[in-house]
Amino acid sequence: MKCSCVHLPCGFLLFLQPRNFSGQISVEILRNPCTFALVKFTPAKPSLFGETLESLKVSVEAAGFPGFRAKQVMEWLYKKRVDQWDAMSNLPKAFRAWLDTHYILYPTSSLIDKRSDDVTQKLLLELEDKSLIETVLIRAPQTGVGQESSRKTVCVSIQVGCAYGCKFCASGLAGFRRNLMAAEVVSQLMHICRREDAHTTRAKKEIASFDNIVFMGMGEPLANYDTLIQTIKILNADWGLNFGARRITVSTSGLAPQILKLANESVPVRLAISLHGATNEVRDQIMPINKKYPLEELLPAVKAFQEKHGRMLTLEFIMIKDVNDSLDQAKALTKIARDLHAHVNCIPYNKVEGLEWQRPSVRRQDAFVDVLRKGGVSVTIRREKGHDINAACGQLRLKTEQKMAEDESKPSSPFINPRV
Ligand code: SAH
Ligand code: SF4
Repeated sequence: MKCSCVHLPCGFLLFLQPRNFSGQISVEILRNPCTFALVKFTPAKPSLFGETLESLKVSVEAAGFPGFRAKQVMEWLYKKRVDQWDAMSNLPKAFRAWLDTHYILYPTSSLIDKRSDDVTQKLLLELEDKSLIETVLIRAPQTGVGQESSRKTVCVSIQVGCAYGCKFCASGLAGFRRNLMAAEVVSQLMHICRREDAHTTRAKKEIASFDNIVFMGMGEPLANYDTLIQTIKILNADWGLNFGARRITVSTSGLAPQILKLANESVPVRLAISLHGATNEVRDQIMPINKKYPLEELLPAVKAFQEKHGRMLTLEFIMIKDVNDSLDQAKALTKIARDLHAHVNCIPYNKVEGLEWQRPSVRRQDAFVDVLRKGGVSVTIRREKGHDINAACGQLRLKTEQKMAEDESKPSSPFINPRV
């Protein structure tokens, strides 16, 4: 079939097949070299969600308003979670008009809010430059005395696409468009807060309506380092979301120098390493970053982080049939995990449209995990669909665009659009 290609604002090169040509997106998304060029986006006005209390206070005072107004604004943003200037009822009209002239509130709007099952809630957000990003809320059942029945984790994106091109990953497959700004990351979480507030009976709505944040959505957090740190500081601040850094996990494909830098930050976040290969030979095949920072450079950096923070870190290991699922890989992984005192998350590969790889059989997955267990490693295997945070995050955008195209031709769509 003859195809025509089109550049979407989000930077994907899409092949549109003739039967779908009336604007719908068809299925094939190809890696396109031009999507790797960094696009710098400068908004007409900054979003308040990128400001710290200090930076806002400086601007407020410079404009001739009392500094305490900045604190009031932050309360409206993070405690009362309003999305309009007019709702900030204790602020004088002239000050609200000044805010409106110099800032915007949300730099993201919710395009699709889809509950795929009882466990995951997926948001597709549109940025001001029409780029698309994904945010996922996962409810993990939790049992135990005195614990809430479910723990909520939000998986956020930090870039539009990803430049690192891991061969199993939907974000990498689609190329890289640009870094997100801190406001665009913070607002992902505020969208989730607002939509959860609407459904919660919690007496104190001003606390965050989720328990954990993971940087496991689109993009490589350590390649957008300043935004990452700025975001964590805003989330962590008592005038912000007041969210403990220890409940934030940063996942990286292995940028060794930035891991060392992160170890020295004052924010004690958790670290997860996307390992996926226990030897350079295997890792080289699937993660181009390994050529730059091979295991002999990566592992000491991870060890230094672990020693500095003294907390168990996580190694993520996607099991891909005949690529990295051998028992030799399991043995090598056991050694690495033991050296680092790390927990291992084994994730059966989730199929990505356009890639040929398969997940191993359940028997083979079990045999792999067994080697780790027998070697004394703390290991979990995430088989349940909805619980698979990583796969959900890595593939949401790609899948959603494909699904949008499919569903637009159907009489009723599963997507709702509440514009949170
Ligand atoms: N860039 C960072 C964070 C985003 S990727 C990193 O690589 O760690 C988050 C996780 O999603 C990673 O562990 C990644 O390996 C996982 N993931 C990506 N594609 C996947 C797939 N097809 N199946 C299962 N997990 C996947
Ligand atoms: Fe980028 Fe992480 Fe996907 Fe690799 S796994 S392409 S680093 S998002």
